[in-house]
Amino acid sequence: MIDLFSDTHTMPSEGMRRAMAEAEVGDSQLGEDPTTNRLQDAVAGLLGTEAALFLSTGSMCNKVAVAALTRPGDAVVCDHRSHVMRFEGGGATIVAGVSFEPIVTDDGAFTPEQLEAVMTGTNVYQPRTSLVALEQTHNFAGGTVWPIDRYEAVCAAARRHGAAVMTDGARLLNAVVASGVAADRWTAPVDAMWIDFSKGLGAPGGAALGGSADLVAEATRWMYRVGGAMRQSGVLAAAALYGLEHNVAGLERDHANARRLAEGLAETGVTLTDPATNMVFVDPTPAGVTAAGLAARLADAGVRVSQLGSRVRAVTHLGVSEDDVDRAVEAIRGVLAAE
Ligand SMILES: *Cc1c(COP(=O)(O)O)cnc(C)c1O
Repeated sequence: MIDLFSDTHTMPSEGMRRAMAEAEVGDSQLGEDPTTNRLQDAVAGLLGTEAALFLSTGSMCNKVAVAALTRPGDAVVCDHRSHVMRFEGGGATIVAGVSFEPIVTDDGAFTPEQLEAVMTGTNVYQPRTSLVALEQTHNFAGGTVWPIDRYEAVCAAARRHGAAVMTDGARLLNAVVASGVAADRWTAPVDAMWIDFSKGLGAPGGAALGGSADLVAEATRWMYRVGGAMRQSGVLAAAALYGLEHNVAGLERDHANARRLAEGLAETGVTLTDPATNMVFVDPTPAGVTAAGLAARLADAGVRVSQLGSRVRAVTHLGVSEDDVDRAVEAIRGVLAAE
């Protein structure tokens, strides 16, 4: 099976499993887990933040960050396909009591003007838009990368209106590799940034949230509130550290493989996104196949993709070789040719 379903399907390698088995651990709730502490220091160093907090999932990072940066009744501005708004079961609304003010974009990166048009809160009957939530890379816009100038301008516009900014950086390191702009520069203009270890970095779980010492203290309180505090979390933190140390360089290969996949599907009649990082979204309808039909027939041919509405998404990752990409292209071409 060639698994292009998601980079969450990366499996912990031998080396990663050994690092987990050998991890030095303690009670992380008392700050006594040396491996978790080492990871949090490493993430704070990478992001250039005062502190960082290891959490079980990226979804929890989103929740605790939103809760730490807003008050109940506030509104959060974000792109209309943001993970925090659309793909977490409404959790931020339940946990933090916020509503969302979505902006429709093609690529997930709105402009300062679009932001300013939706900033509310000058009238007492409107919710206060106290937080702007960015996503880098933007998953459901196609693994797109915010241009740094636009990103910094949007952050500055948010500040002018008194709003905080957070970035869902589940795939920040993909953006770093693709853009050549360092992680600390993407973090500098925001109040909270988090990265995920369970995607392209290959760990079985875990994410870490960085920010000021005050922000991280407040996020820690929310972690306890929502039941997210672990104990010997070093077993998982060891996998995250291993991913940071060994699997960042491979993201470049994943991006090259996504481009290879897109090039292989050129002139087949499908509509596809131009992959900025490790994802290709394919709309096969113009070639006479539905997304559901394509996904099902590919599964029969040993290629797994995900279906999202009228498109299928193919994601490259450390478990996908160049050869796998070529075989996937052949399989997709085969399905299209059979129509
Ligand atoms: C995967 C993902 C999340 C959630 O992370 P989990 O670790 O799976 O909870 C949040 N935001 C984006 C953009 C993601 O791709």
